[in-house]
Amino acid sequence: MIPVTKPFLPPKADYQRYIDEIWERNWLTNNGPLVNELELQLKEYLELNHLLYVTNGTIALQLAIKALDLKGEIITTPFSYVATTSSIVWEGCQPVYVDILEDTLCIDPAKIEAAITPQTSAILATHVYGIPCEVAAIEAIAKKHSLKVIYDGAHAFGVKVNGKSIFDYGDVSTCSFHATKLFHTIEGGAVICQDPEVLRKMAYYRNFGHDGYENFDGVGINGKNSEFHAAMGLVNLKYLNQIFEKRKEQSLRYKELLANSTVKFPKIEGIEEYNYSYFPILFSDESSLLKSMKLLQEHEIFSRRYFYPGLNSLDYTSGNTPISDDLSAKVLCLPLYHSLTAEEQRMIARLLLRVQNNTGK
Ligand SMILES: *Cc1c(COP(=O)(O)O)cnc(C)c1O
Repeated sequence: MIPVTKPFLPPKADYQRYIDEIWERNWLTNNGPLVNELELQLKEYLELNHLLYVTNGTIALQLAIKALDLKGEIITTPFSYVATTSSIVWEGCQPVYVDILEDTLCIDPAKIEAAITPQTSAILATHVYGIPCEVAAIEAIAKKHSLKVIYDGAHAFGVKVNGKSIFDYGDVSTCSFHATKLFHTIEGGAVICQDPEVLRKMAYYRNFGHDGYENFDGVGINGKNSEFHAAMGLVNLKYLNQIFEKRKEQSLRYKELLANSTVKFPKIEGIEEYNYSYFPILFSDESSLLKSMKLLQEHEIFSRRYFYPGLNSLDYTSGNTPISDDLSAKVLCLPLYHSLTAEEQRMIARLLLRVQNNTGK
């Protein structure tokens, strides 16, 4: 069986060493030393000034919306994971969908201004599959209309633009360290932000608003993470270079194997430093996708329609997003994980080509 993804697991002994330490200290959560160490190492690795480690990538989005005090409408993309939209709705705001770019599947900056109303407070865009949004164009629009910008960077760990981390863009950027992501801490996430006041708010919100035992800096939530999760992150950080290398090698192999196929790939050329976090392919139509998916399944190979359906199909429909609607029906993510072998990739490609060559029969 070949799943679409498989969490990276480091050698058990590496993790055990940290667990032994946790046992000795008897300090399991609440801003422990491993959480602090992970924050330090992540900032160093990603070359960031500030980063807060939180429960998961969804809480990260909610903390960002709350700390920026967003109200009313938030312009967002229909082509993302459900957490992008659900966070907006959960925080009492309304998502307004703007269509995506055909080549990168990220929000189309040229279509944002038409969606701005007096109620608009922000833009929440996703770096889809780690492909950077058009950050300069988005920033210019946000400035002109006094809007805040949040980037859902759940897929974008390690991606660089203009010599710096993609997380350095926007008023707040978020990341997810969920088990299925490129870099993971089992469950986990982060908020990245330059503004000291917004950062301070998120730090308090993350810990119930506690300012010492008996004082509160307003109302917060439980957005902390534990020593056990941080330990997994600290171990996995040591394997990151291997993980990136393997992902790149596998992605290039898929591309080569599928060079004679009719499927297309999102545009990653020109990205300064890409992370190869997913391997999406775009079929010419939905029926070829379904046929391919079925044949793969018959061989115990599982691909995933990611993202499908578009988030505008939730109850919060607004906006006209034909490109997203079309592409979400035609995109399929192929298996991609650290232990996927070249032989397995060749088998997947053979099956995909077989469907294509049999089309019409
Ligand atoms: C995974 C993911 C999230 C949610 O992250 P969790 O850590 O699972 O809460 C949000 N947005 C996108 C685009 C994701 O892929």
